[in-house]
Amino acid sequence: MAEEAMPAMSFDKPAYRFAPSPNGLLHLGHALSAILNHDMAKKTNGRFLLRIEDIDLARCTPEFEEAAYRDLSWLGLDWEKPVWRQSEHFDDYRAALDRLMEMGLVYPAFLTRGEVKARVAEHEESGKSWPRDPDGSPLYPEDDRHRSETERQLLIAKGVRHAFRLDMHKALRLTGDALKWTETGDGARGEITAHPTAWGDVVLSRSDAPSSYHLSVTVDDAAQGITHVVRGLDLFEATAVHRLLQELLELPQPVYHHHRLILGPDGKKLSKSEGSTGLAALRDQGFAPHDIRRLVGL
Ligand code: GLU
Repeated sequence: MAEEAMPAMSFDKPAYRFAPSPNGLLHLGHALSAILNHDMAKKTNGRFLLRIEDIDLARCTPEFEEAAYRDLSWLGLDWEKPVWRQSEHFDDYRAALDRLMEMGLVYPAFLTRGEVKARVAEHEESGKSWPRDPDGSPLYPEDDRHRSETERQLLIAKGVRHAFRLDMHKALRLTGDALKWTETGDGARGEITAHPTAWGDVVLSRSDAPSSYHLSVTVDDAAQGITHVVRGLDLFEATAVHRLLQELLELPQPVYHHHRLILGPDGKKLSKSEGSTGLAALRDQGFAPHDIRRLVGL
């Protein structure tokens, strides 16, 4: 499958999306991403879509969603309506998960975060290192991958909470490991080789949400007809997982553009809690939309 990479999508018009999670207020980093998407869409006579990434029902709120619309309107951006809200598409993610299950690529994963942490600590105390993903999180232990079907059914019948994970090695045996994507952003450019194994057996459906970031972003980019994914460089490596899922689910591949990040005074990526770089806070202090463009270097 991988050798014959699918062509980038050819729709009438290019389509761009800004995809915030309404679990906090938007900051300057979001402003850069949203403005870039908006401006690239306008320049190419393309579409500018908004996607609310609210699969985490415990952390996302209608208030943050409203605040995002307010901030984006204030910046002078206009997007197509209706807005795509992930919480309205859980059936689509379930259908994609079912398809991967039928392909034998998914297993229930029972270890809690605490159990994984303890396992890693124990291993590292003995002087050995535990493999980490590109974000620095430990890879998921292999135990669950090797459980028998009987044992899995028993645990599920007992009501043990579980997520669903992708068997990465099995998946790559199907696609081959020659996955690539086209990159036009601020980091490495050109044809990039994807390294999905660096992420281990990624979560496809969380124990506390009926999907995962990787699964829903991949399904939605295809469903919304996105031709260009413009987002921060912090998601560069995650693209490898999205490319793999696109191959498995036979979805078209967009072009990717990972842009520079706006860093806080501490040199770290901005977090939503930082008031000083929040768009609403800056507005209240008298900053105008053109000041925001200047502040993010546009
Ligand atoms: N919802 C993600 C975020 O707020 C962005 C996902 C994406 O652009 O692929 O970081």
